[in-house]
Amino acid sequence: MEALKKNDIKQGHVVDLTHEGHGVVKFDRYPVFIPNALINEEIEFKIIKVKKNFAIGKLLEVKQASEDRVEPPCKYYWKCGGCQLQHMTYEAQLAMKKEQVVNLFHRKAQFNETLINDTIGMEDPWRYRNKSQLPIGKDKDNHTIMGYYRQRSHDIIDMDSCLIQDQQHQEIMNHVKQWLNDFNISIYNERTKKGLLRHLVIRTGHYTDEMMVIFVTNGSKFKQAQLLVEQLTHTFPNITSIKQNINDSHSNVIMGQQSITLYGKDKIIDSLSDITFKISDQSFYQINSSQTEKLYGKAIEYAQLNGQETVLDTYCGIGTIGLYMAPVAKHVYGVEVVPSAIKDAKQNATLNGFDNTTFVCGKAEEVIIEWKQQGIKPDVVMVDPPRKGCDETFLQTLLALNPKRIVYISCNPSTQQRDAQILASSYDLKEITPVDMFPQTTHIETVALFERKEDK
Ligand code: SAH
Repeated sequence: MEALKKNDIKQGHVVDLTHEGHGVVKFDRYPVFIPNALINEEIEFKIIKVKKNFAIGKLLEVKQASEDRVEPPCKYYWKCGGCQLQHMTYEAQLAMKKEQVVNLFHRKAQFNETLINDTIGMEDPWRYRNKSQLPIGKDKDNHTIMGYYRQRSHDIIDMDSCLIQDQQHQEIMNHVKQWLNDFNISIYNERTKKGLLRHLVIRTGHYTDEMMVIFVTNGSKFKQAQLLVEQLTHTFPNITSIKQNINDSHSNVIMGQQSITLYGKDKIIDSLSDITFKISDQSFYQINSSQTEKLYGKAIEYAQLNGQETVLDTYCGIGTIGLYMAPVAKHVYGVEVVPSAIKDAKQNATLNGFDNTTFVCGKAEEVIIEWKQQGIKPDVVMVDPPRKGCDETFLQTLLALNPKRIVYISCNPSTQQRDAQILASSYDLKEITPVDMFPQTTHIETVALFERKEDK
């Protein structure tokens, strides 16, 4: 084959989709990855980057479109880095997510026997985000802008709507932006590290409609804060809490350690099934509430509790999964590394009247060793780590604890597959269910059931 060169214009048939949702065209075995191309399409594209093992192409024209192609409803879709799959029907998105899991577990690993279910989707896969984190900046005419980042960059796209966000967040975003412009409020500049306002963060209790608005500032002095509070609460009387979070760091981390309550309560309340949760500004809370109920529902089905079990909820956040299980377990032990989340978990246990829970702040890989030394013998262990998956010492201790079942929730199936290979020495990976927590994006969430092998 003649080598591909930058700026070559080529035509080809898309044979595959990557986990980032990019179409793959092959020349002999050499792949070209083309964003926004769909499987089975005939396309024309331009080579924009050539590497040793692959090239990147830019889609120029779809000669023959896939049946899965739709017009993206969002006017910012082609620029914004928030969504990646709006040009696909929702059915195709769900099928693609399942296919990625099949590929990882059946083709790239030894789990051929594992049942992989269809992705559990949403009835209406829009406006699902209960949390918006909006960077604030200035455009070249010195106007305050707010929205999401452009793909693979930190340029802010100024937006007046976002179709995966809660509708009220959009209205608050537009109102705050207008106010910041009218009063010429100082805005943080990522390059110079100077200026005041960095981010607007909004959180809503999905079932309670309680709402928290957080202004992230560089430094604590925010002299117009009271004026803004009056404005906002007048226009949006359903806001329950307004906070200022102070972030002096020069990093990309959105929130700092310290928060001040400017108005109302310092936490908001939400409920999932019959359990009530208090959520503080810095704690992790699943951003798609109705899908979280389906995810936890599946996890509880896999856990098969009858009231007699000792359960570990590892990487527990504010204790949501453990508290879900507390009514049907003997005792639940939770561990989480963020102190404010553990404080919330303990309060949430009291709030719901549970006296059979223990929440510990620390690293899961360390606390699980302490639990083992204390002689705690779990029947079921829930595992829900961040994207990087579990620490190897954690998995080795988990194997030594030898629970009957392990239910592993993951937001990154490739690290879940890696960890599953370690657990496979003593456990059968019975079943995996993908749950679509993030429609219109390439993010995949899965819940997996491991059962102890009979002879162990
Ligand atoms: N189970 C919770 C949270 C899952 S997100 C829920 O469903 O809401 C993963 C959580 O793991 C985060 O809260 C994060 O703070 C926590 N975490 C990250 N590394 C950790 C570690 N080494 N030990 C314990 N918790 C950790």
